[in-house]
Amino acid sequence: MKVVEAEIVTSAVKPHQYPELNVPEIALAGRSNVGKSSFINKMINRRNLARTSQKPGKTQTLNFYLINQELCFVDVPGYGYAKVSKADREAWGRMIETYFLEREPLRGAILIVDMRHEPTKDDIAMYDWFKHFEIPVIVIATKADKIPKGKRQKHLKQVKVTLNMDPDDVLLSFSAETGEGKDAVWQSIKKLVY
Ligand code: GDP
Repeated sequence: MKVVEAEIVTSAVKPHQYPELNVPEIALAGRSNVGKSSFINKMINRRNLARTSQKPGKTQTLNFYLINQELCFVDVPGYGYAKVSKADREAWGRMIETYFLEREPLRGAILIVDMRHEPTKDDIAMYDWFKHFEIPVIVIATKADKIPKGKRQKHLKQVKVTLNMDPDDVLLSFSAETGEGKDAVWQSIKKLVY
């Protein structure tokens, strides 16, 4: 997809704050610092619309990005940051549960993991949660530029095995540094949405 226009529409916690855009939505989830903001920026050709390296655990809102007036990315605050209080973690859980289970325009989720490492317990829990609620999911292994090309298949396999991925689910490698994987990700998003 050629992104000609992208803007942050709103930040929301509760359903009455969600925007009424009447376009399909794709939600983006991943642990704090995994590279989610960098992923969004690269996908929409913006250097810094999604702010990178915010203090982990700080952005406790859903951020809605309208793209070409036809699709919306919904940035879900990162999980797995150890210093978040129990109360904040619970509030996060309520917020995402409400969004994912009630949001009519939602077409699926993108789960971003770090290609360098085995998926964390939280990554596994997030993937399982999407499967449990039958939310279509694309898994993106980002920071691919940090792994030599010859070793990438091995790392992708580790992601697949550790998440115990459904063979029908898509797993793609990506790099926000080089942009590789971007076209393949757009194609998978299109399949979810259209
Ligand atoms: P977020 O907390 O998930 O939004 O993560 P950020 O997008 O802020 O990225 C965290 C750190 O990883 C930053 O220092 C980024 O520059 C770096 N980063 C993100 N994506 C990539 C990537 O594809 N390749 C490399 N080499 N670094 C990345």
